[in-house]
Amino acid sequence: MQGILGQPKATAILQSALASDRTHHAWIFHGSEGVGKFTTATAFAKMLLCHSPQVDLAGNREPCNGCESCNLINQPDAAHPDLHVVQKELAAQSSIATVRSRKLLSIPVDLIREFVIGGETSDGKFHDSAASKSPSLRHGKVFIIDEAHLLAAVGQNALLKTLEEPPPNTYFILVTHQLDQLLITIRSRCQAVSFGSLPDEVINRWLAEHELNLTERETQWFIHFCNGSLGLAAMTEKYELVQWARDILPGVMDISRGKAAPMLGQDCGEKIDALAKDWVDTHAGASKEAANKMSANLMFHLLGQYARSRMQNIAEAAQPDDPVTNEQQLGPWLSLIDSLTIAQQALSSNVNLTLVMDHLFAHWQQAIRTQTFEPLRWQ
Ligand SMILES: [Zn+2]
Repeated sequence: MQGILGQPKATAILQSALASDRTHHAWIFHGSEGVGKFTTATAFAKMLLCHSPQVDLAGNREPCNGCESCNLINQPDAAHPDLHVVQKELAAQSSIATVRSRKLLSIPVDLIREFVIGGETSDGKFHDSAASKSPSLRHGKVFIIDEAHLLAAVGQNALLKTLEEPPPNTYFILVTHQLDQLLITIRSRCQAVSFGSLPDEVINRWLAEHELNLTERETQWFIHFCNGSLGLAAMTEKYELVQWARDILPGVMDISRGKAAPMLGQDCGEKIDALAKDWVDTHAGASKEAANKMSANLMFHLLGQYARSRMQNIAEAAQPDDPVTNEQQLGPWLSLIDSLTIAQQALSSNVNLTLVMDHLFAHWQQAIRTQTFEPLRWQ
């Protein structure tokens, strides 16, 4: 697990579990998106499945990278018969027509029955339990359930018994950035490992390896925007989110200074829509609804992080003997953050994105002009 960046605590917990030779069979890896949870889950699985793990000078267990199991995991296109990755996209491979055709917004219980625990699915078919089968390579089995919070309560409940009494040498790793969406009964059966935000130096190293041609200010913006997430860094590069910042933030500054920015809402809405369309075109089975939400959340994150960076600047320059001025300067940005939270909640009810953004900025502009920071409403 040497290749895992910036997660010394999480890897130390896993290493000590491996060293004890009585590795717990059910894990939850939780923490922000894009900080290496899934990568670590795969590396941990590789260790658990390796036929002749090595111990290095520091006492850490590392996979041999020479056995049949390691070779299969090292080849990106090869399928390892004992490493089962369950994620919402697996629905495309389901034998159940209704599962194949549904939108990829959750992990249905049918998928868990078909690919993990077995049992009868909604089409009346009976499936053998993949979890109970003997491992093909005779060294154990690992099930990684990615975005485990997408399992509805019925799916989580269906998993409980298997998590409690798993077949020998069978391991489960639930990966999630929404720990609170997992039932207490699931959490109590799993060992939780928390993944923190990556330190800025990891993002800096990433930037040094990718030529994005950023100015110094843009580099600062990038590091702040990514907030310790390499996943977000990769998204930012792929979807040119620096250009979002260049186009949108001047308008945001205008409003904060009491000026008008009439096209800002529309501009944001169009950018969200364009990214969502691009996402659907390049991800088989992706739904536009889910892509809209993901894309809008990126925009909200951009606006929220910008407001927070402005507040940080104000706090650093604050005069301790003038709390009134400090509060006046912070007010608009606090109001923006509050409005973003409310607008984000409104998104779940399938509203028009441009309307949401327009309403958000109109409300914010009004609040600044009148200095009345009422909460944003949806009527
Ligand atoms: Zn090996």
